[in-house]
Amino acid sequence: MSFPGSGLAKGLAVTLRTMTKRSVTAQYPDVQPDLAPRTRGVIGLFEENCTVCMLCARECPDWCIYIDSHKETVPPAAPGGRERSRNVLDRFAIDFALCMYCGICIEVCPFDALFWSPEFEYAETDIHDLTHERDKLREWMWTVPEPPALDPAAEEPKEIAAARKAADKLAAQQAAEAAAQNENQTENPNQNQNQAQDTEEEGT
Ligand code: SF4
Ligand code: SF4
Repeated sequence: MSFPGSGLAKGLAVTLRTMTKRSVTAQYPDVQPDLAPRTRGVIGLFEENCTVCMLCARECPDWCIYIDSHKETVPPAAPGGRERSRNVLDRFAIDFALCMYCGICIEVCPFDALFWSPEFEYAETDIHDLTHERDKLREWMWTVPEPPALDPAAEEPKEIAAARKAADKLAAQQAAEAAAQNENQTENPNQNQNQAQDTEEEGT
């Protein structure tokens, strides 16, 4: 049984309860949302890694990746070797009006050329502007967060190991050259002095 005015009392009770609760409304755009680090906002293209293998375009369920390329002949690496051909990227675009943010293209890319960026503020008034061409996709790369740190017990990634090996080799080569130069100067101080004098005389 309900008495007159009970509905109003219930309504006021709900209002009072809600008034004392903490607000969950985000005041966007005055306050930026606190996004998870791996948020799927937009896709960035690291063009240097792309070999135009077309895997991403083939696997995209929405067919919204557009790639154009042509072949170029590269001279042999060593004399007597064979000429090789390589793909050169002419166009790489993603239509974000069609994209469903499934992430398949990023997952399947064997060369780490595509990355998620948490940027989401790219709404457009013209739908055609939602097709981002390679220059725009490259710009998004600046907003891609750093990958999480490796587990201390993890194996060193082979790319880092190879880069470190190359840097060590170069440093050793430079050190050997510097040592050889020092040795040469110690063994022939007079020759070096004469050379310096000759240079000075030529200058005057
Ligand atoms: S996220 Fe999915 S839908 Fe969007 S471009 Fe990549 S594969 Fe296509
Ligand atoms: S899968 Fe990766 S490497 Fe292959 S075309 Fe797509 S972005 Fe380029």
